[in-house]
Amino acid sequence: MTQTYDLGIIGGGPAGYTAALHASAKGLKVILFEKENIGGVCLNKGCIPTKSIMHSGEMFYKYKNAQTFGLNLNEVSYDWGKIIEHKNNVVEKLRKGIELALKNAKVEIIPKEANILDSKTIQAGECTYQCKKIICAIGSSPKAIEGLEFDHKFILSSDDILALEHLPKSILIIGSGAIGIEWARIMSNFGVETTIVEFAPHLLPAADIEVSKRIERIFKSRGIKFYTQTSVEKIDNEKIILSNGETVEVEKILAAVGRVPNTFEKIDGVRYIGDVAGEIQLAHYAIKQAIEETDGIKFEKTLIPFVVYGSPEIAWAGLREQDLEPDTYKKAFILTSALGKAHCDGETEGFIKILSKDNKIVGVHIVSKEASALVQQILIAIQNGISADKLKEVCYPHPTFSEGIFDALLKL
Ligand SMILES: Cc1cc2nc3c(=O)[nH]c(=O)nc-3n(C[C@H](O)[C@H](O)[C@H](O)COP(=O)(O)OP(=O)(O)OC[C@H]3O[C@@H](n4cnc5c(N)ncnc54)[C@H](O)[C@@H]3O)c2cc1C
Repeated sequence: MTQTYDLGIIGGGPAGYTAALHASAKGLKVILFEKENIGGVCLNKGCIPTKSIMHSGEMFYKYKNAQTFGLNLNEVSYDWGKIIEHKNNVVEKLRKGIELALKNAKVEIIPKEANILDSKTIQAGECTYQCKKIICAIGSSPKAIEGLEFDHKFILSSDDILALEHLPKSILIIGSGAIGIEWARIMSNFGVETTIVEFAPHLLPAADIEVSKRIERIFKSRGIKFYTQTSVEKIDNEKIILSNGETVEVEKILAAVGRVPNTFEKIDGVRYIGDVAGEIQLAHYAIKQAIEETDGIKFEKTLIPFVVYGSPEIAWAGLREQDLEPDTYKKAFILTSALGKAHCDGETEGFIKILSKDNKIVGVHIVSKEASALVQQILIAIQNGISADKLKEVCYPHPTFSEGIFDALLKL
């Protein structure tokens, strides 16, 4: 039987469910196909589960070192099973929330794998569905390394690591993008011996060079071992031989070298949004693309905020120092240790850096507690052409981390 819809969406991740909710709010008859779980990678295997586990790890690390703050917490320990149970509860609660929102919006959900037959026809199982418009939001999958393919036991993907029954004693993380850095932090907070191998000259290669160097310094102080300009040559009986000749022995490997868009033969007239589009693979980018598609609200694609979670947070937007010609820009730099609140919270590691050119702010790079929130202030200024002088007229509360923004602005 063939039914007709205004909009057919394949994929129930941030791109797909956002498009579904916004389109139905506009009165469209929407059908959504999801073969696994509503919420996609972000909610079920990505952003949310990692941040939930990360929070447990951060708490564990903090409570173990609580004497500094005058607290006597003897025998701090963790129960990995309960941490995962908590993570699962968080994910389930949020998933139910999205499912309810979709139900209330009268979006029809088909829990099946779907295929696009042509720009107006979707097939799932025995049925075909006629849609005036089709959005394909089928996301991406972990990228395998040639010769080091996932065996899901020793060589793990970011999906596999969420299914560990207990933590390993040691781990090698290949790749130091956001996923690699976040898992290195999680593992090390729980006392797992953690080593990173990164092919690029510095950790977190997409970041401003000063951010990368600071993360390297922080990792050294936390006992996280790393090799840069290095790759894994081969694995010989669980001995990992690196390109620099060194050998590493670990219980597990996490390969975190990026994600590849899930494949579908591209069909003219179908809109591809989110990770599958192969642009910026972030949930907030996927959400903005969906809203652009349904509501026509454009967004500035060159000004996407990047955040790497953990302590301290890392966040940036706009141009990096290595993108700018020397002597053509101004740089304001303040250390987080200059802030009173940082000392109160025991979070003094990091900095705030603002870059300007021709009196316009062009970039912001923050390594600090609350970096994810702080970066947004400057992003709004960059996108709206608000000058550093105008921002200096804003009153910042004390004691806060946001004072650091003001202190940095005063240097421009
Ligand atoms: C470990 C990890 C941590 C991350 N952390 C962050 C973060 O902190 N912040 C951030 O912004 N981003 C983060 N991301 C990235 C983020 O998860 C993705 O950018 C986001 O999920 C992309 O959304 P999407 O809707 O395009 O695709 P997805 O979330 O991948 O959803 C696609 C959906 O389509 C479904 N599907 C695929 N094929 C079919 C088919 N044929 N029929 C029916 N359904 C189908 C899939 O089952 C899936 O549910 C992280 C990713 C990972 C892996």
